[in-house]
Amino acid sequence: MAKKKGARVLITLACTECKEQNYLTEKNRRNDSGRLELMKYCPKCRRHTLHREVK
Ligand SMILES: [Zn+2]
Repeated sequence: MAKKKGARVLITLACTECKEQNYLTEKNRRNDSGRLELMKYCPKCRRHTLHREVK
């Protein structure tokens, strides 16, 4: 089966506490229909915080 473009989208993850945009990643639209939320290390907060997808 050929790879289908459009299923994966590039997203930015921003710290929910300081709003710093720390991570660039891609998600599979089929797996993640809503907003992506991940626990990631924020260099500004200097600890793990919840990072949320920004549009
Ligand atoms: Zn932060």
